[in-house]
Amino acid sequence: MADDFSDLNQFDIPDDLMDEIQKNIEDIITGFPIPEDNKLDVIKKINFMYSRSRYLSLTDALTGLYNRRHFDNSVEREFLRSKRYGGDLAIAIIDIDFFKKINDTYGHLCGDFVLKEVGYLILDNFRKTDLVFRYGGEEFVVLLTETPIEGAKIPLERLRKSIENYDFNYQGTRINVTISIGAAPNATDNVNDFLNNADKALYQAKNSGRNKLALYLE
Ligand code: GH3
Ligand code: MG
Ligand code: MG
Repeated sequence: MADDFSDLNQFDIPDDLMDEIQKNIEDIITGFPIPEDNKLDVIKKINFMYSRSRYLSLTDALTGLYNRRHFDNSVEREFLRSKRYGGDLAIAIIDIDFFKKINDTYGHLCGDFVLKEVGYLILDNFRKTDLVFRYGGEEFVVLLTETPIEGAKIPLERLRKSIENYDFNYQGTRINVTISIGAAPNATDNVNDFLNNADKALYQAKNSGRNKLALYLE
């Protein structure tokens, strides 16, 4: 299908290289014998196709949030940037509690509805400079830039409470939804430990009863 860009997900082209390719395409077009008054339209069309394919390759279709692929491309860059300039960076993994039960009780479409709403509430809760991703199934990750772990506690705790109190209403049925959150600071030597520490904190949040925020503190 001409409109299906899903195959693009197979390719891994860094963002800056994509920008350079697009610039070169524009340069090539201006050299082609296209009537002068059409050139702008051709460039506009290519820009549109480029933006669309780029949007689809970076985002998750259900929630519209950045996808796992974009997370993998972003986390190391943000981690190294914070290390290089001595800034703070916190990571939070957010996992919906007993999500399987929501699917089993109310159906998969209701599960999808909850995922969309939770995704929106997460996005709405953080600063524009923070990065929100759908990491997988019912797991989300937030990179809180320029934020020490004590500072991250405030928006994360606010998010936990807002999900607990939000009126999830699916076709007239009220669904109770809670999340568990594990968060960690960038006080590690490498990006894998940074992620693993947040995962350990999440495990602790789950084990201490769910609907909890746990911080990884050494
Ligand atoms: P816990 O509190 O320990 O996190 O339990 P849980 O039930 O949330 O965790 P588990 O990993 O057992 O279940 C996750 C479920 O998420 C299972 C899977 O079917 C469901 N899921 C994953 N992706 C989607 C999706 O896109 N839509 C829907 N509706 N369900 C999904
Ligand atoms: Mg999970
Ligand atoms: Mg879960």
